[in-house]
Order: sequence, then structure tokens, then C-alpha cells
Amino acid sequence: MAKHRVVVVGGGFGGLHAGKALIDPNIEVTLLDRRNYHLFQPLLYQVATGGLSPGEIAAPLRAIFEWQKNLRVLMTDVNGFDIERKQVLTKMGEIPYDSLVLAAGAKTTYFGNDKWAAIAPSLKNIEDATKLRARLLNAFEEAEKENDPDKRRALLTFLIVGGGPTGVELAGALSEIANDALKEDFRSFDPEDARIMILDAGPRILSAFSEKLAKAAARQLIELNVLCRSGVRVLEVSEQGAKVSVDGREEFIPSRTVIWAAGVTGSPLGKALAEVAKLELLRGGKLAVEPDCSLPGHPEIFVIGDLAHFQHGLEKPLPGVCQTAMQMGDYVGDLISKRLEGKTKPAFRYWDKGNMAVIGRNRAIAAVGGFEFSGYFAWLLWAFVHVLYLVNFQSRIIVAIRWGFDYFSFNRGARLITQPGPPAQES
Ligand SMILES: Cc1cc2nc3c(=O)[nH]c(=O)nc-3n(C[C@H](O)[C@H](O)[C@H](O)COP(=O)(O)OP(=O)(O)OC[C@H]3O[C@@H](n4cnc5c(N)ncnc54)[C@H](O)[C@@H]3O)c2cc1C
Repeated sequence: MAKHRVVVVGGGFGGLHAGKALIDPNIEVTLLDRRNYHLFQPLLYQVATGGLSPGEIAAPLRAIFEWQKNLRVLMTDVNGFDIERKQVLTKMGEIPYDSLVLAAGAKTTYFGNDKWAAIAPSLKNIEDATKLRARLLNAFEEAEKENDPDKRRALLTFLIVGGGPTGVELAGALSEIANDALKEDFRSFDPEDARIMILDAGPRILSAFSEKLAKAAARQLIELNVLCRSGVRVLEVSEQGAKVSVDGREEFIPSRTVIWAAGVTGSPLGKALAEVAKLELLRGGKLAVEPDCSLPGHPEIFVIGDLAHFQHGLEKPLPGVCQTAMQMGDYVGDLISKRLEGKTKPAFRYWDKGNMAVIGRNRAIAAVGGFEFSGYFAWLLWAFVHVLYLVNFQSRIIVAIRWGFDYFSFNRGARLITQPGPPAQES
């Protein structure tokens, strides 16, 4: 009998878990990704700020699946779908499926201001992280050569647009670079003079957390000399800084480094699928899914992770976080296997295991099982969970050792500039 062909698009958190759940030898799985590795995005900010090296937060997909003989990995770009003929359209040609799992994740959005991307980099992949690391470290190098105090101040002003977990994590780590790792490295200025500012358009930072935890985070950021400004809307970004609007008043903040951590939208593959399936693409570029994560009218197509809008029986749609993607991946993999055995499975149910954000050394916030923590215990919990969830066993050990060493030495070992610096500024 011909084997059931499952194509999984994306080797991120959702795709990886779907692939791992599809172990039935009667199923032939093809995992497609444009990259040959799985990336642990929650630790990207550590690569961007010199705490970890790229290889420590990424694991080759082939190595992850080396023992799963019913699954093959193909590195290719997916361009679209022919759902009538059940084909995935890729750069290398068409790939047929009986069941399709779309787990292509999300991408950064500049809310219609795409030209800002060249000036205000974001953090979504390894390339972004290493570029950002070079950008941040270059700003300190340029400041060392600058004699004009205003220009030096702009070089040492770091604006982070977006006060979600990524913005907060970046701000905290950047402050620690300035206050600890680089403290003794420069002669013409004191790295502690660096100004790090989070700009958020909303009424407060960390809107996904309770007000109490957001306040605790803001307090910990102040201890690290990070200025949190809420109710600040960015109007324009340039090489010289950001024009913002505060209470209807315009203000210009000179800065040579603006980092964009303000939002993500679903992968363009969501739009491509919505078009061929004649379905509406929701806000945030997501696709509404049925209680079993399948696409309405297409029980053989599943959309999971950051691309899925799932709100059945819930007040709010499920958040775009790793847990959602992993649990959906496990569920869908198991559902496809069960269907082949002629069995059914109850609707997908999300198990909220908690929410955390790290701010810096000994500083974090965590909401777990109805309890809220901040400070040292939350930080310990964060570190434990993140090491535990790193995919590769070797990475877990290396990251734990690296963090242990950096904790006591206040060092950031991976602070090398491996990209060319920004173009020279005209005076
Ligand atoms: C900087 C950052 C920090 C984060 N921190 C946290 C955190 O602390 N906690 C938390 O829970 N969540 C965090 N998240 C969110 C979390 O990473 C996502 O929710 C999760 O990765 C979603 O999983 P996914 O499988 O839907 O997509 P992803 O993990 O993004 O995987 C998508 C995969 O699809 C591939 N792909 C996309 N398009 C194509 C194409 N056209 N062709 C071929 N392959 C393609 C990509 O290469 C990628 O491997 C963070 C995200 C970022 C960017």
C-alpha cells in the first residue's frame, strides 16, 4: 500500500514537533525549510548582544532527525500551493502531499514603513542577530574615535522600538554590555554613559503580562539605567535618529542605533494559502483554523504556530509563542497518525505553561501556574527553562557552561564584530 505523504513546511518550533510526532512508518514525511537548521529564537537576543554564538542556539535539522528514517529534510524555498492538485510549490519544483502542515512562522513588520528596515534592523534570524551585534559594538568603536560630544552622545544612544519581551531583553542585555562587559575597554568615554531607551506606543511595556509584573520589569530596567517611555509613537526613522510623537507633540531623539522590536506578521505563505483556499487573511497575517488546527473546508491542510489564529472557546486568540507552536505540532502529528488508523482525536487544547521575560542578570519576570515572580527566582526559572528547551543536548551543556562562566566573570565572550560597520556619516 502507498504510504501517506505528509509535507511539513517549516522546521521551526511547530514543524519540528509535528515532524517528531509523525513516527508511524506508514507515513512518509518531507520537511521543507529554506534553512538547514532549527533556530531557538528566544535566545537570539543573546547572539545579538555577544552572550552566545550562533551555533549555540541553532541545531541542524538533519542531525535532529537522523534516527527518524521516515522523514527526509529538503532545504528549499516554498513559494505557494496548488491545493486542488495537492502540491507544494517550491524553488526545486512541486512536491505532492496527502496531508500538509504549514508552520512557516512570522516575519518582522514595519507597519507599512518597509524603508525603515535598512536603518532600524530587527531580530528574527541568525543573520539579523550577527548584523545587530556588529552594529551595537561598532557604535562603541565609533564613539571611541569621536571628539564631538553631541555626535558621541548620538552614538551612545540606543533606541529600541517596542516594549515587548524582545525589546526588554535586548535593552537589559545592552545595558549589561555597557555597564559590565565593556566597562574597562574604552579610553575616550565611559561605556556607562550609554543611554538605552525603550519606546512603546502603548500605555505600558510588556502588555502580555499583568500590570504588576510589567511594573516590576520597569523597576528592574530602571536599576539597569534603561529608560522606558510609553505612549511614544515613532513617526520617522533616519540614520540620525527617530522622530516621535508624544501626547500629540513631536520630538526628535538623536541616535545612531535604532532597533526595531515592534511587531511581527504571518509569513507570506499564509497569504498565499488564503488566496488559493479563498479564505480571509486575518489581522497579523494569520489564518483562522478549526478546533483541530485544520484549514476550514480542508481537513487535509493544517496551519500551526505563529501563522494560526486559534480562538475556539477562548477569550483571546492563542499567543504567538513557542509553546503554542510546539503543542500544535505535537497535536497535528498525532492527529494525522490517528486518522490513518481510522481513529479520531478531541479538539486541540492549549496548556498554558506560563510566560517569562528576562531583563538581565538576576532580573526577570515570570507568570507560572497562577503565580507571579520577579527578580532572582524568576531569572533562575527563566535560565532553567531556556536551557531545558534548547533542542540539542550539546547546546544545553555549552550554554549552561557559558552562562555559568559569564555569570561569575561579568564577561560576554562572543562580542566579536564579524560584519562591516555602518557607512561613514557625513558631517
Ligand atoms: C527575537 C525573538 C524572541 C522570541 N522570544 C520568545 C520567548 O522568549 N518565548 C516564546 O515562547 N516565544 C518567543 N518568540 C516567539 C517564538 O519564537 C515563535 O512563536 C515560534 O518560533 C513560532 O514557531 P513557528 O513554528 O510557528 O515558526 P518558526 O519557529 O519561526 O519557524 C518557521 C520556519 O519556517 C521556515 N520558513 C518560513 N518561510 C519559509 C519558506 N517560504 N520556505 C521555506 N521555509 C520557510 C523558517 O526558515 C523557519 O525555520 C520569540 C521570537 C523572536 C523573533
